[in-house]
Amino acid sequence: MQSQKAYPPAYSFEFFPPKTDAGMIKLHRIAEELATLKPRFFSVTFGAGGSTREKTMETVLDIKRLAGIDAAPHLSCVSSTRESISEILETYQQHGIKRLVALRGDLPSGMMAGGEFRYANELVEFIRSETGDHFTIEVAAYPESHPQAPHFEADLKNFKRKIEAGANSAITQYFYNADAYFHFIDACEKLRIDIPIVPGIMPINNFSQLARFSDACGAEIPRWMRKQMECYGDDQASIQASGLDVVTSLCEKLLERGAPGLHFYTMNKSEIVSAIWKNLNLGP
Ligand code: FAD
Repeated sequence: MQSQKAYPPAYSFEFFPPKTDAGMIKLHRIAEELATLKPRFFSVTFGAGGSTREKTMETVLDIKRLAGIDAAPHLSCVSSTRESISEILETYQQHGIKRLVALRGDLPSGMMAGGEFRYANELVEFIRSETGDHFTIEVAAYPESHPQAPHFEADLKNFKRKIEAGANSAITQYFYNADAYFHFIDACEKLRIDIPIVPGIMPINNFSQLARFSDACGAEIPRWMRKQMECYGDDQASIQASGLDVVTSLCEKLLERGAPGLHFYTMNKSEIVSAIWKNLNLGP
């Protein structure tokens, strides 16, 4: 963990672009509330294949203006052309956006690829070639391996390609086993990877939904945790209370050992994230 201890902790909150006006109004309130915690940045997801292109842009600009916090759009390249990515980059530059989360993305089932980028390292390289050092570029990391990777070492080498292409820092897929993160950092250090790798934290709101989603994205729910949550049945209050303890304790372990901050997948909800924050005594 030596490499990570050198970086001052940075905190960030991720949102998705709301589909409705009511959702957008609710997100404004949540962003204003979370802005009081003084995160380094907010980020806003991007639907694969560009499906939320306008909404991501609108949400990023809105929450940046309203909450006064730096906001980073996610940008996924699967099925995109160089021309369309170039246009998006130009718009963000014009609006003073300085940070991006650069991803490959996943195509919705049934949609054909057919774009000009295959992997996120190609997108990072393209952003650097088009815009130089204008953007701070975040990329994704997978302590438990990306689900399509043939094995851990291959995935790690592919992660390194993104850094060699110009990524400044990384945010991990969520996980509930802190050792997976520590093991990943040790493996990165052996490959001389030295950028901040911030753990992605998924608060537990709805466990059955989380379990389904985790199977698809390759995040492991430890057996002890699954068993614990299952015994609460439909009792959402107990699931959330127990989830709060589990996630608080995970964050404590990560920060104690030197993780360079936390990135919260808020799912556009603030209650549980605020409770974790309070438990961790992070101020201000
Ligand atoms: P890559 O880094 O390209 O890796 C994808 C797979 O290809 C891996 O198995 C890797 O080992 C392999 N690979 C990579 N490079 C090469 C290469 N050069 N040669 C051979 N194999 C290679 N998805 C969205 O659609 N929108 C979002 O907003 C979004 N935000 C996310 C934010 C975070 C922090 C994280 C962790 C994930 C997010 N995702 C998002 C999900 C992400 O798009 C998927 O996990 C996707 O499957 C991989 O994206 P990537 O950028 O990690 O891909």
